[in-house]
Amino acid sequence: MQQQKLIVRLFSSYFVLVLLALTLTILFASKAIEDFYFEENVNNLQARAILVDEILRHQDSMNPKSLQHLCERLGKETATRITLVIPSGQVLADSDENPKNMDLHHDRPEIIQALQSGEGVGRRSSYTLNEEHLYYARMSAYADSSLIIRVSFPTLALKSAMSDLNYNLLLGGIIISILLGLLNWYLSGQILKPIQIMESGARRFSRGKLKMKVPESNIKELGSLAKSLNLMAENIYDRIRVITQQKNEQMAILSSMSEGVIALSPDGAILSSNRAAVTMFGVHPNSIVGRPFHEVIRHTELIDFVTLVLKEKKSSQCNISIYEPQELTLNVIGNRMPAKKGAIGGAVLVFTDLTQIQKLEGVRREFVANVSHELKTPITSIQGYVETLQDGAIDDKENAHRFLDIIAKHSARLGQIVDDLLELSRIEEIPGGEEQYLKLTPLNDLIESTLVPFTPLAANRSITLKVELDENLELLLNAKLFSHALGNLLDNAIKYSGSNTTIEILGRKREDEVVLEIKDQGRGIEEKHLDRIFERFYRVDKGRSREVGGTGLGLSIVKHITRIHHATLEVESKIGEGSTFRFIFPHK
Ligand code: ADP
Repeated sequence: MQQQKLIVRLFSSYFVLVLLALTLTILFASKAIEDFYFEENVNNLQARAILVDEILRHQDSMNPKSLQHLCERLGKETATRITLVIPSGQVLADSDENPKNMDLHHDRPEIIQALQSGEGVGRRSSYTLNEEHLYYARMSAYADSSLIIRVSFPTLALKSAMSDLNYNLLLGGIIISILLGLLNWYLSGQILKPIQIMESGARRFSRGKLKMKVPESNIKELGSLAKSLNLMAENIYDRIRVITQQKNEQMAILSSMSEGVIALSPDGAILSSNRAAVTMFGVHPNSIVGRPFHEVIRHTELIDFVTLVLKEKKSSQCNISIYEPQELTLNVIGNRMPAKKGAIGGAVLVFTDLTQIQKLEGVRREFVANVSHELKTPITSIQGYVETLQDGAIDDKENAHRFLDIIAKHSARLGQIVDDLLELSRIEEIPGGEEQYLKLTPLNDLIESTLVPFTPLAANRSITLKVELDENLELLLNAKLFSHALGNLLDNAIKYSGSNTTIEILGRKREDEVVLEIKDQGRGIEEKHLDRIFERFYRVDKGRSREVGGTGLGLSIVKHITRIHHATLEVESKIGEGSTFRFIFPHK
């Protein structure tokens, strides 16, 4: 539908009314004035006819000649055409024409009227003069005869006066129309202004700017409309605020959940998802809404599960494994959403990541198995030698001493394993990132004191210990723990290096980090083991480790201590060339 501006509609309606009123007024006025003129002229002619009548009554002779002469004279003096007609219609005298040339006038309307009622009026083109005239005829009786006195004059002057008048009326009408038009436009604008203000306010509301009020008009109806609009906007704003708040709360709850959540419509399209879910499946949150679940997550087992939940209309759960973008084991619970109060129904899937739990469970099982295994060897050995001694070997002095030495060695090993396990569990309990455990410590002093027990050990095997540190290196450290970690690395370096080698301790300050390296020239570690040497009880060469008194827990302890210091630990190694363990501390 074609829409028209209200101002145009208002203006044009008023303007049509004004034009109509003006036109009618002009027409009526013109007609009334013309009638008035006509009346005046008829009265004028009547007066002249009466005068002519009077003059005729005082006339001595009524012979046609003298009458013709009289008519001509009076006609000229009064600028009136005077015609004297006898009742038969014959013209006796005429001021403007020779009566002999004139035909009978019995058929002239004014003559007919005069014969019937004493006087008559006519307005028509003169048959004789061929020009429009106004006629007045009057019946008059004299001593011996009756005469019809007809006076007339041309309507030319009347017409030109009327056309002047009509012209002026028209001009006045046009000027009034223009003035009224302008006034109308101005007034229409004034009337519409509050409506326009309200309209722009309503448009603002529709654009969501609900806080900006519509100004209240002093026109009663518009004022109450503005009030209603403002109230409506306030209500909508409040509702939106509540809805947004609720939505934000729900989003915050959903996005802070570690469980992944995906809501599905009854036909299996994704309605929404939380951050955990999109991370689990490696999908983009904006590109999945509205798309079918089976298109977004291509996992046959999961698609079957979703179909089952949507079809069977009952809750269900299962465990699945996914491999992309990362390997995860997930527990999925599918619940039906009821379709009521505007909700379309469908289902909600909740994914719980069991990967870590399973991993921890595995680690725990492995740890128990490892501990048992580690403890079993020395315990079995001790039990064996004790039984041998009990069975009589105690009397064999030479062997008895050897057996006791072995028992002592295994007991020491048991002690060492238990000590390391205790230390590890103690360190594991310290939460990472707790600044209260860390203090700014000069690295120089710390390394010096750590080296004390290792210097004779290294000297025994002709291993040179070399320390090279940048000046004034200071780090946020827990001195006791970090010294323990350094000790473990130095112990390993000495254990796994041959004689006449050098172990370097290098501390360098880089732009935003401090790097501390313990570099040996020992046997090195094969690349395939590098990822695993930090695991508890992991040893590259079990026999060799045990021989040199290792428990397989040293590097695990170092890794935990590194975590407590917000640092990272790297290892580089080449078989036969040596190993480098590198701490990298972030430094501001
Ligand atoms: P262990 O008590 O057996 O030394 P660790 O956890 O300290 O246990 O080390 C794990 C394994 O890593 C060791 O068994 C050893 O094979 C290897 N390893 C550690 N440090 C070095 C090193 N500096 N040179 C060669 N091998 C090393």
